[in-house]
Amino acid sequence: MPDFQAILETIYQNALQAPDKGTVATYIPELAHISQDNFGIHLRTSDGKSYGVGHFNKPFSIQSISKVLALSKAMSLIGESIWKRIDVEPSGHPFNQLALLEIENGIPRNPFINSGAIVIADILLSNLKHPKSDFLNYVRDLTNDNTIEYNEAVAHSEKMTGFKNYAAANLLKSFKNLENPVDDVLDFYFHQCSLEMTCGQLTKTFSFLANQGTCMLNKTRLSESQVKRINALMLTCGFYDEAGEFAFEVGLPGKSGVGGGIVALLPHHFTIATWAPGLNKKGNSKLGMLALEAFTSQTKLSIF
Ligand code: GLU
Repeated sequence: MPDFQAILETIYQNALQAPDKGTVATYIPELAHISQDNFGIHLRTSDGKSYGVGHFNKPFSIQSISKVLALSKAMSLIGESIWKRIDVEPSGHPFNQLALLEIENGIPRNPFINSGAIVIADILLSNLKHPKSDFLNYVRDLTNDNTIEYNEAVAHSEKMTGFKNYAAANLLKSFKNLENPVDDVLDFYFHQCSLEMTCGQLTKTFSFLANQGTCMLNKTRLSESQVKRINALMLTCGFYDEAGEFAFEVGLPGKSGVGGGIVALLPHHFTIATWAPGLNKKGNSKLGMLALEAFTSQTKLSIF
């Protein structure tokens, strides 16, 4: 068994030396004042051991990472019929691009670009009695942690500035790919994205995808085949238009968010989460990508 704690500490120190630490996202004003100096890594193995360095216990805005959790809840509710409304191909375009959606008649390329996640939000709205609290409870149960919360200030900040998301939702509505009112769907979507979690919590939350669908409460959340599909989507579509680069450099299914978080996993082995708010030009955490590339290179633990 490798000395994971020592490996994480070396990787962390090396990444801190990087001359370019990326740029904090400012298009959601509430995220703009998060210090670029935050940096944490947490690893949880499938046999229950955990290792952390830096700010792994500090909560941050998980943003698009939440799209994986929303998809998994939607799959548990309506199964394969999701794929009548959303495709499963990488977009090769930024997460908020609208042109493809129009060309492809309102069918989003995948559930992790914003338009796809907005359709998933619509599905949850149609199928949950109390969408926001039911979804929050779902995430808390996956993690076995009742302290997880939405950040209302972040949700509000995004609501005030989310013009492209309003445009995407209206376009989806015009193609009859939204059942609920645009404002209701986006209110849910902005809350979902505002979830705050630590790297230590994220490695717990995502452990069901490393452990054939079994969550921290020891309950089966998804079938093995559904887990396979979500992990495949994370590998091919989890990193904006840099999914190829992440697969090439790191070799794990994962998902990033503009809050600077990344979570990745090796089925049957571990989940790993990083947080460093400085982003590269494609919107992925600069130090997070460096750290994960170093981790799989040094340990030789990747799906390849
Ligand atoms: N809530 C963000 C948005 O819709 C999510 C972006 C992200 O993390 O990719 O713009």
